[in-house]
Amino acid sequence: MSQSAPFRLLPSLDELLRHPVIEALVQREGRSATIAAARASLEQLRTDITAGKLDEAQTKSRLDELPRKVEQRLRQSLAYSLRPVINATGVILHTNLGRAPLSRAALEHIAEVSQGYSNLEFNLDTGERGQRDVHLDRLFAKLLNTAEREVSTIVVNNNAAAVLLALNSLAEGGEVLASRGELVEIGGSFRIPDVMAKSGAVLHEVGTTNRTRIADYESAVSERTKLLLRVHRSNFQIVGFTEQPSLEELVALGRKHNIPVMEDLGSGEIFDLRNVGVRGEPMIADSLRAGVDVVTYSGDKLLGGPQAGMISGDRELVAKVRANPMFRALRVDKMFYAALEATLLAYLREDYDSIPALRMMRLSEDVLERRAKQIADRLLVSCPSLRIEVVESRSVLGGGAAPGSTLPTRVLAVKSASHNADELCARLRQWETPIIARVEAGRVLLDLCTVEPQQEEAIVVALESVSQ
Ligand SMILES: *Cc1c(COP(=O)(O)O)cnc(C)c1O
Repeated sequence: MSQSAPFRLLPSLDELLRHPVIEALVQREGRSATIAAARASLEQLRTDITAGKLDEAQTKSRLDELPRKVEQRLRQSLAYSLRPVINATGVILHTNLGRAPLSRAALEHIAEVSQGYSNLEFNLDTGERGQRDVHLDRLFAKLLNTAEREVSTIVVNNNAAAVLLALNSLAEGGEVLASRGELVEIGGSFRIPDVMAKSGAVLHEVGTTNRTRIADYESAVSERTKLLLRVHRSNFQIVGFTEQPSLEELVALGRKHNIPVMEDLGSGEIFDLRNVGVRGEPMIADSLRAGVDVVTYSGDKLLGGPQAGMISGDRELVAKVRANPMFRALRVDKMFYAALEATLLAYLREDYDSIPALRMMRLSEDVLERRAKQIADRLLVSCPSLRIEVVESRSVLGGGAAPGSTLPTRVLAVKSASHNADELCARLRQWETPIIARVEAGRVLLDLCTVEPQQEEAIVVALESVSQ
């Protein structure tokens, strides 16, 4: 038989496209995507024949499968890359896993507002153009109510953008005083000195890494000073011989010299986490009450909403930030307003359990223990090759919040007879809805704090299947 015999069996692209299965694909999924998949599948066959992997008989059997292969390839090429996963890491605000999950109300409000038109920038009373800010400003004003003064709030793409915009609006061309102990880096290359440089303001460092006194700020104040900046150490702690002036001292200094004080809070805490035993995270309202003029914070950290960055504070200063042309470049669209509006309304109703991140933080150990035991008991029966223990552990908030605090939780510690822990962990990641766990001391740990009860079934089925 000649070398080229298998090649002669291959259909042309046109012939392949006339196959009834492929014709149906063209109807359903579109012509160009189907052609691309058909061409790639034929190409693969040619490559395999050239490599001498297929004789005539094997080529024939591969040709029988060809329409199905094209369909598979097409399905893969048209599948979503961004997919839901089950977070069994116990890190509640996991930046790599999308930080805060949205509430049901937020999702419904997004769908309701975004599937058609809305009054995003339309005043229904006057029939004239309105401002998108009004929808959230009124809610933030209620939640951050500080009696002494009115607070306004505007929203941009994320907190990094909020810091950049506020610095540029309030301090461009001038100096910003900031403590050396607060020149933080947040994951993903957000560094205060770099953001400052991009904002057009000049960073004037005061104090030392571990100790900065109010006198350090005072002696650095000059006619060039446009802003006093406080940055929350959201992802690290400085312990030992340390000193940091109180917000009140900083505010008093600002007032004395008529210089505004800005605080980058990182996480926007509205719900008092001391209720769940987490200390050291500043609440937005506390900072404003202490007299800070402008605060910035994230929407998808402790606030539990969509990715967004808020600038709240003194009405005049926020108006100045709003008037910056850069605001237009950083603003967010109706979906974010809808998600934030629903999230803020949950706070106003004190319906904290409707916000997933807060619900997770508030889970009781008893509930977690019971859920873990149930899963372990089921797998004990259905999957004798697994060794499963329910272990007491600690969940972390993550996402650059409360680095020193953890919450009590229960984890399933799993060992399989057939796979080592790394393999088991990798197979869980490849599951239909990927399950993200971690490996510790030769065991796969699944933390139930960040797993929703309705996801438990998937975990059981996956463990049963991947440990075979
Ligand atoms: C997280 C954080 C930021 C960045 O916020 P993003 O919403 O992720 O852009 C900035 N500053 C501080 C102190 C933070 O903790």
